[in-house]
Amino acid sequence: MLAGPVDSLQGEARQYLARGKMVGFFPTRSLTYIFYCLPTRTIRELKCLGLESFKKQLEHIEPDISDSLSILGSWSDVAESRARRVDVKSWVSDRAVMLGDAVHALDPSWAQGANLSLQDAVALANTIEKCFESKNFSAQALRGYERERRKQTKFVQNEAERTARLTTTEDLFYYWLGKRVLQRTGRSKDLMRSALRASCGLTDHFSLREKIRFII
Ligand SMILES: Cc1cc2nc3c(=O)[nH]c(=O)nc-3n(C[C@H](O)[C@H](O)[C@H](O)COP(=O)(O)OP(=O)(O)OC[C@H]3O[C@@H](n4cnc5c(N)ncnc54)[C@H](O)[C@@H]3O)c2cc1C
Repeated sequence: MLAGPVDSLQGEARQYLARGKMVGFFPTRSLTYIFYCLPTRTIRELKCLGLESFKKQLEHIEPDISDSLSILGSWSDVAESRARRVDVKSWVSDRAVMLGDAVHALDPSWAQGANLSLQDAVALANTIEKCFESKNFSAQALRGYERERRKQTKFVQNEAERTARLTTTEDLFYYWLGKRVLQRTGRSKDLMRSALRASCGLTDHFSLREKIRFII
């Protein structure tokens, strides 16, 4: 949803985490983008209580935004979406190719869907150039693009799902684990770098050492 501008947020985003919910406030050029991740059951309950009660909940989390919420006049100003994963057996066929969400939609927790799609486009452009040179647009000739992109895509899909599970879970154990991973990452520059590299699309795996260090 988009709320009005918030003076204290200029140039700075804020994100909060509690058991079963995660909320983020991001200043745009003239407005404030707010996302709120909740279990489906809670969204239904929230809607039953009405928009004003919803706004009060957001104000309680971040008092600085209270004035900016007045532009939310009805539930139609609040877009609701559910994370959906797409896995496709083959991304290519003779003279046809798919890319982006059509082949690998993923949980938005890593904010990587559009980035992956752009990376697909770059890889595909290189493959298509070769297809023009060889005048061969068969599935076999196009498959190079799919091979180049599969590993990173699967890695990001899986890790985004894992992150979502740890950051929006109502389960006490996973909530504790999620907090531990965040705290450990926040205390170590190396781990911060590993997490950033992965969530910026610069790698397609975590080493075993990194996986262990995120937890222990
Ligand atoms: C809540 C949320 C937050 C997100 N945040 C981020 C983020 O911060 N960073 C990030 O990188 N990604 C983010 N994403 C993911 C990102 O939006 C998608 O991964 C990205 O838009 C995928 O691009 P695409 O071109 O593959 O598909 P789309 O952007 O979905 O484009 C497909 C287009 O095809 C059109 N279309 C569909 N069917 C037809 C048809 N039959 N005929 C003609 N046109 C058709 C659609 O209208 C649409 O315009 C987020 C997603 C969600 C849901």
